[in-house]
Amino acid sequence: MTTLVEKKQRETHQNDQVIIIGGGAAGIFCSLQLGLMGIKSRVLEMNSKLGKKIIVSGGGNCNFTNLEVNEKNFQSENTKFTISSLRKYSSQDFIKFLESNGFQYYEKKLGQLFCKNKSKSLLELLLNECRKVGVEFRLNTEVKSVLLTDENKYLLTTETEQFETSTLVIASGGLSFPGIGVSDIGYKVGKTFGHKIVQPEASLVPFVLSEDKKKIWDVELSGVALPVEISCNKKIFEDDLLFTHKGLSGPAILKISLYWNKGDDVTINYLPNIQFEKLILDKKKREGKTLVSSFMNTYLPKKLTKRIFEVLLINSEKKVGDLSNTDIKELVDLLHRNVITPSKTEGFKKAEVTRGGVSVTNISSKTLESSNQKNLYFIGEVLDVTGWLGGYNFQWAWSSAYSASQAIVDKINYDYE
Ligand SMILES: Cc1cc2nc3c(=O)[nH]c(=O)nc-3n(C[C@H](O)[C@H](O)[C@H](O)COP(=O)(O)OP(=O)(O)OC[C@H]3O[C@@H](n4cnc5c(N)ncnc54)[C@H](O)[C@@H]3O)c2cc1C
Repeated sequence: MTTLVEKKQRETHQNDQVIIIGGGAAGIFCSLQLGLMGIKSRVLEMNSKLGKKIIVSGGGNCNFTNLEVNEKNFQSENTKFTISSLRKYSSQDFIKFLESNGFQYYEKKLGQLFCKNKSKSLLELLLNECRKVGVEFRLNTEVKSVLLTDENKYLLTTETEQFETSTLVIASGGLSFPGIGVSDIGYKVGKTFGHKIVQPEASLVPFVLSEDKKKIWDVELSGVALPVEISCNKKIFEDDLLFTHKGLSGPAILKISLYWNKGDDVTINYLPNIQFEKLILDKKKREGKTLVSSFMNTYLPKKLTKRIFEVLLINSEKKVGDLSNTDIKELVDLLHRNVITPSKTEGFKKAEVTRGGVSVTNISSKTLESSNQKNLYFIGEVLDVTGWLGGYNFQWAWSSAYSASQAIVDKINYDYE
């Protein structure tokens, strides 16, 4: 049956520019790099504005890279996949590009670089540079399908138009933050050309916990934050944890969520750099009359201490000297090895990224070209490459876009000679 959409007359564009689906970080940067090497491209973007995720990122100041980026900062079925692109275009290269344009930034912590002014300043810089090299941006243009023609060209269809090209770059991102416009076109194209799709999951995302008298999390703790060490599936991070009214958030949780699968336990050490057992035994020996609560409040937020007493059924008026060996053992266990099992995450709505995506198995790590299908490239978050929290995901967007653009230009020049 022919649908109404199919019946509409579509204008067809056949001038064989490189076409990039997605005007986010990866798509914009790829078009800029192509332009700098004299290749015109056309970016098709479904939203009415480009780079919406750049704008909302990093709390409005975009954490655009990290001083130290290597393959260990990424999760993928192939943990070595990012090496080549990160070597070709490193975080230092991106920093040089910004500095050469007088861009102002600062390091927050752990090598994370943020825009000194709003994220918009970074987007504006990128778009200005794109304009100089003649990139064509088409807004409000959602690609609905991609097919291969008999002449081995890609035929892209939107509501009202069709575009034909010999070289297609998929930079359509993942499924997180659906509120600002996302689609699964990248996964559809991947499937069409025989690529496996690694199950997309919400990642860098808060956990939801269920209330339980025997567990530490409680809605009353909402807003309490403290530095912790957190581990799951042999990955360990040290960063801040935030109790929320639904469960747990904060950078420590977002980071560990990349390695968490439904049903997995997560272990929290609330006093990562302290040997609590030694301290409390010492206190018991020397100043046994001190209230356990006062002693613990020197290391932990008061609300958390209160909750720990409720869970362990310890009287808040108890003195350190009156703690039994069992009390001490339970306290030490809870403070250093609190095992939680999140019931779920807060999902794509709250996730910063999508873990999984187009499998890298049949994608060249050097060129980002599909090995199933000539002149088809996948870059950025649409791939099964997910970075830690801390600027790594944008660096992947810049690096993968750069690799693909170089490969496209090399091929075009080779064909021309
Ligand atoms: C709230 C938030 C904060 C973040 N903060 C940071 C941070 O500080 N540092 C960091 O490194 N990472 C951060 N990230 C992650 C980072 O934004 C992404 O990893 C990065 O934007 C991925 O770039 P991309 O170009 O691959 O995808 P996107 O930026 O998602 O771009 C994809 C583009 O494709 C378009 N598109 C999709 N489907 C179609 C279609 N069918 N037709 C046409 N266009 C289409 C989309 O509208 C979008 O513009 C954050 C993410 C979120 C949601």
